[in-house]
Amino acid sequence: MPSADTAAAGRTLLEVVRLSTRYLADHGSASPRLDAEVLTASALRIRRLDVYLQFDRSLSPSELSAVRDAIRRRAAGEPVAYITGRREFYTREFIVTPDVLVPRPETEAVVEIALRQVREKRAGDYQRARVAVADLGTGSGCIAVTLACEEPDLDIIATDVSDAALTVARMNAELHGVRDVVDFRQSSWADDIERKVDVVVGNPPYVTSSELSSLERDVCDFEPHAALDGGVDGLDAYRELLASVQRLPASPTVILEVDPRRAERVAALIVDALPASAVAEHPDLTGRTRVVAAVPPDADAAAT
Ligand code: GLN
Repeated sequence: MPSADTAAAGRTLLEVVRLSTRYLADHGSASPRLDAEVLTASALRIRRLDVYLQFDRSLSPSELSAVRDAIRRRAAGEPVAYITGRREFYTREFIVTPDVLVPRPETEAVVEIALRQVREKRAGDYQRARVAVADLGTGSGCIAVTLACEEPDLDIIATDVSDAALTVARMNAELHGVRDVVDFRQSSWADDIERKVDVVVGNPPYVTSSELSSLERDVCDFEPHAALDGGVDGLDAYRELLASVQRLPASPTVILEVDPRRAERVAALIVDALPASAVAEHPDLTGRTRVVAAVPPDADAAAT
């Protein structure tokens, strides 16, 4: 699509999408039609549906150049979400920049399990207290902000070592009206948290160093390695995170995203770190183990 003749005046919206699709297919996109539609709509500031409602409208030179710029970036491997600056997660739009990992659908499984745990606690002994949740390594803030939106009465702390990531997370909290609910802190895992937390959630970096270099170009060339690189065995972040959680005043329920191939090993690390807790594995929507959760025997007893 970004060849000069494509940009010639008089191209209709539908023609531009068709040409862009072909161009992206030739440049390694796995979903060229979808990418072309989403990027065209975003560049023109219209909804994706409007691409079809306005299919025969011709584009102005400045509109064409905006579309062409977006398609070029995608053809060079940049993830669609970084180009549009947005990604949907758990039905809400999140701001994303290259400072944060693009939220992924499998992480919605962490939210599901966390909501279940929080609701159970609220229905039980915690009826009157606000349930305290800590999202460790919050990145875009998608987990913390979603929990705040879904369960308005939570007390949420979200940490990240990256100041740039926290800026994005705060914008997302603002966007969804929960800026006052989430306490964002720049720190490593739970190191800065002194108080009792009921539930810890997180999606730590879990790609092994050698896998990282063989990941698709879109991920390894564009997404922050600090959010992906889990060291030689992919488990470094879990060891650090669990050591940090062990220093909390009481054992919380811990809900962590995992690589399905390493779920057993993460479960073993959790058993070592929190021996009294009951550890369970949960699948994502594709049926693969994506979450490992550990629940302490009795949260009230553990708190004393
Ligand atoms: N799910 C991501 C991927 O496979 C990795 C996310 C992470 O390391 N936490 O690209």
